[in-house]
Amino acid sequence: MKPAAFDYVAPRTVHEAVDALAGNGRKTQVLAGGQSLILEMHLQRIRPELVVDINRVAELDHMDMNDSTVRVGALIRHDAFESEQAVPGPLGRLFARAVANIAHPPIRSRGTMVGSLAWAHPASEWCALALALDADLELHGTGGPREIPARDYFHGPFQTARRPDELITAVRFPLLTGDTGVGFIEHRRTHFCFAQVAVAATLTARDGVIIGARIGLVNCADRPVRARAAEQALIGTDLAPPAGRRVPGDHPFARAGRIAAEQDAAPVAEPYADVEYRRQAIAVLVGRTLREAARDQRAWVAASEGGH
Ligand SMILES: Cc1cc2nc3c(=O)[nH]c(=O)nc-3n(C[C@H](O)[C@H](O)[C@H](O)COP(=O)(O)OP(=O)(O)OC[C@H]3O[C@@H](n4cnc5c(N)ncnc54)[C@H](O)[C@@H]3O)c2cc1C
Repeated sequence: MKPAAFDYVAPRTVHEAVDALAGNGRKTQVLAGGQSLILEMHLQRIRPELVVDINRVAELDHMDMNDSTVRVGALIRHDAFESEQAVPGPLGRLFARAVANIAHPPIRSRGTMVGSLAWAHPASEWCALALALDADLELHGTGGPREIPARDYFHGPFQTARRPDELITAVRFPLLTGDTGVGFIEHRRTHFCFAQVAVAATLTARDGVIIGARIGLVNCADRPVRARAAEQALIGTDLAPPAGRRVPGDHPFARAGRIAAEQDAAPVAEPYADVEYRRQAIAVLVGRTLREAARDQRAWVAASEGGH
């Protein structure tokens, strides 16, 4: 199919883009990487009357860092995060592990992190990371700028707190402290597919005891999920990662996996995975991702002790 007819503008500034999005009563869409929008337009599931192409808005093409935060502008493509060094510390490692699972290189070279947050697909890796890591979104609309914490932003599949006249200009992630271990594991049918289930985890420990945990679940509900009950169950437990491939059923990571699957997640049936299968996959993947994060944290401890 071909897209229905639409008007097109290519503003040069955020101000012009916001003016265009106001739309004079027309249905508008933002064109960022186009990796979701163009497909939807071809299928005529989305029929904008006006497409606002933001690719010439230079002020959106920046990634800024300070001591505590990375701020990712709306034109930063997925592949900017393929190197662990793109963002300092454990957050860079986590982003690099997650982004490798997003589609394939041509899509990663066009699609944007902010576009993923705007689209809010329940299987989006970036959406789960934004939620788990307490990111903040920056928006500009005709009423001026505002910020929305990720925890208040996702309302359902493809539904968010963004108003139609608002442009998301950037997302800010707090950096992770050096002593934080990170893990990301994804399960999907083929490399081309979106995640059936994926898990992002961070663990922080003092004297071998877990004092902080964050778990983000991808495609485990109609929107991204932060597995707070599972996180809570980990506090005060031993960080020691289990040896071998399997996480024993009585290990705290396996228990956290079961809690995430039963209490935090709300999976829906899909053609290739019923709810029971998906809960089982969530439990197993959470356990394994926590083990990966614990190993990552141990490696940091070993490296920092070796450096003294
Ligand atoms: C074959 C294939 C496989 C894929 N696999 C994955 C995957 O595994 N994981 C994953 O997360 N994604 C996947 N994607 C989607 C891809 O990551 C897209 O890049 C992403 O969903 C949207 O980003 P974009 O910049 O391309 O946005 P666009 O397609 O340009 O826009 C998408 C939507 O977001 C809105 N929008 C975009 N930017 C803004 C903004 N700054 N402010 C307000 N609204 C905005 C648009 O109006 C539109 O509604 C896949 C896509 C394809 C085609």
